[in-house]
Amino acid sequence: MNVEIDHLGIAVRSLEEALGFYEGVLGMAASGRETVEAEQVNVAMLPAGSGAGASRIELLEATGEGSPIAKFVEKRGPGLHHVALRVDDLAGATERLRQAGARLLNEPRAGAGGHAYVFVHPASAGGVLLELIQK
Ligand code: ZN
Repeated sequence: MNVEIDHLGIAVRSLEEALGFYEGVLGMAASGRETVEAEQVNVAMLPAGSGAGASRIELLEATGEGSPIAKFVEKRGPGLHHVALRVDDLAGATERLRQAGARLLNEPRAGAGGHAYVFVHPASAGGVLLELIQK
């Protein structure tokens, strides 16, 4: 199975504030912003590298108090929220995880950018919330 780092998800209190650093100071440029209702987050994607396959930084801001990101920030403060790996066969990868007894947090569904994704519980992934995303 071919696996690449797609993005690193960082939970922030405010997209504007975080973009002030990532764009204003580091000089990165957000390629897009969107709201993912299913996850209750506002997302800004910042490519790190060039070309279509570039890895990205994904800034995540809660849309409301019930958002998982709001709970994360409340409990642990802003910080690294998840690591996302891009796979060429998400359905196959999901099946392998299931057979291995890994704890999946959702059925594959469409997220930011319309790409299908599934979250794997940190208990199954070395203590890191892992997102697998269809290439
Ligand atoms: Zn993500």
